[in-house]
Amino acid sequence: MSDDPAHPGLQHDVRLSERAKRAQAIHRLLVSKNIIGPDEVAEVIERVRTRTPADGATVVARAWTDPAFKTRLVEDARSAVLELGYRLSHDAGLAVVENTARIHHLVVCTLCSCYPTALLGPPPDWYKSFAYRQRAVVEPRAVMREFGLVLDEGIPVRVVDSTADLRYLVLPRRPIGTAGFSETELAELVTRDSMIGVGEARAPA
Ligand code: FE
Repeated sequence: MSDDPAHPGLQHDVRLSERAKRAQAIHRLLVSKNIIGPDEVAEVIERVRTRTPADGATVVARAWTDPAFKTRLVEDARSAVLELGYRLSHDAGLAVVENTARIHHLVVCTLCSCYPTALLGPPPDWYKSFAYRQRAVVEPRAVMREFGLVLDEGIPVRVVDSTADLRYLVLPRRPIGTAGFSETELAELVTRDSMIGVGEARAPA
């Protein structure tokens, strides 16, 4: 936060918005009442910032190569990702929804920006935009087209709404032509967008 006693006279490059000032005031209050430690928020932000979609890609690649793991992942995602050493950062539930030739899932948080940060890192700006949050529900196919995904009209789209209590991760379809690929090779084909549902996994080169 800004009121850093170690750096008196620190000038902000930009004037703080009312919202930012309010957030800082709430933070100071929570610290002064010993509800949170002085560094706790910064530590959580740092933890989220160091996560990347590579972790989610590892989970997807394992699911593609290990059917028993895939079953566990879809039934109880939290326990399954724990097997791979991924601990979800807080109490939120995690649900993994599988894209197939018969159903396509698209993830949105219509309320704000709920996202499986433990596996994907911080959400992209567009995910938090009002336009995406609104349009993903009303015209998901049009949104996906803008991301370059032209989905077969015969495949129904199911839009899932992430919340603070339940975050969704899409298990994209395994690209064709990848038989015999190692988990590492497969993970490289898994894009962040494919785990949100606005894209598909990359085709092998
Ligand atoms: Fe949210």
